[in-house]
Amino acid sequence: MPALWRVANIARIVTNSLPLRELLKWLRERERAMTQLLRDFVRAESPSFDKAAVDHLGRMVAEEWRRRGARVSLLRQRKRGNHVRAKWGPRGRSARGQILVLGHLDTVYELGTIQQMLFRLARGRAWGPGTFDMKGGLVIALFALDALAAAGCRPEKRIVFLWTSDEEIGSGTSRAIVEREARRSDAVLVLEPASGLNGRLKTARKGVGEIELIATGRAAHAGLNPEQGVNAIEELALQIARISGWNQPRRGIMVSAGVIEGGTRTNVIPERARAMVDVRAANTRGMHALERKFRSLRPILPGAEIEVRGGFNRPPMERKASAELYARARAVARMIGLNLREDFVGGGSDGNFTAALGIPTLDGLGAVGEGAHSSNENTVLRALPERAALLAGLLSSL
Ligand SMILES: [Zn+2]
Repeated sequence: MPALWRVANIARIVTNSLPLRELLKWLRERERAMTQLLRDFVRAESPSFDKAAVDHLGRMVAEEWRRRGARVSLLRQRKRGNHVRAKWGPRGRSARGQILVLGHLDTVYELGTIQQMLFRLARGRAWGPGTFDMKGGLVIALFALDALAAAGCRPEKRIVFLWTSDEEIGSGTSRAIVEREARRSDAVLVLEPASGLNGRLKTARKGVGEIELIATGRAAHAGLNPEQGVNAIEELALQIARISGWNQPRRGIMVSAGVIEGGTRTNVIPERARAMVDVRAANTRGMHALERKFRSLRPILPGAEIEVRGGFNRPPMERKASAELYARARAVARMIGLNLREDFVGGGSDGNFTAALGIPTLDGLGAVGEGAHSSNENTVLRALPERAALLAGLLSSL
């Protein structure tokens, strides 16, 4: 059926079933409560590598969902924090499908960061580690559920909220769980931060990977017998110059060596050097082409060896996976007086995994703010109820 007809139809269904402006008003009255919950979540610091800390936040989040009548389970992990899964569904048993709402508990900030980056309110924003990426999103989801419950709206589909513990470090223990839930779902809504201060949704993301280049040469005395040596640093430098030439910004292909190390002391021709390279691609084709190029690297200096490890760990999220959900979100946003826009971003998220499975995925539905992963991280307070209304409206339309 034509997309436009669909959108018009969705608008009708949404307005008929749920008074969205009322719902936004109801949520605006709860902006303070949302801010307080955000403060509690931010003060419970949760660096990805600290299981105890992430588990502590996970228990707090789980408790909030339980209080709201969701069925909560902790997906226990040995090394990383436990993932939290909360299920909310139609009364009785007859769910007509599943919607997955995704987010993460962990942040990039070490324990104790909160001492320097105090949680504070100023200029209409909340500042502090994780306010924006993405504890704001955790709060938004909880209040979206409150609003739906208050409006007496019970979804026809089962809604699974999955909060993972290791998104910021590549989702090693959560990827399979995210993919399993996504396969059962008709749509995936990701509560990662919005793009820009007007809250653009993320309808496409680049694929992201990490490649390790290891150059091996032959050690020798730099003064006595340099001709018997093969300089691994020189080999690596030449390789980096070569791969830098593969950048094609217009086609969304990015290659950047971010870490380099090698050698032991200046008077020794170095035997070993390695570099860690960040790679990104806008589409699957670009991703495969780049991987092929890396695999075909050959040594440049006579006697040197080059080894390539790693690859893409998040495939690209292409716009076609988001188009229809984005149209729905825009229709819902219009009804609450917001003009919603979209953006194509270079960073990856767990939405990349679900989109790559062919499941409709919409990302960037979380907090509005600035400064993710920086000492300046903050989130806009008045956007919290707006985003919760948007999420509630979107959930009720699916
Ligand atoms: Zn995030």
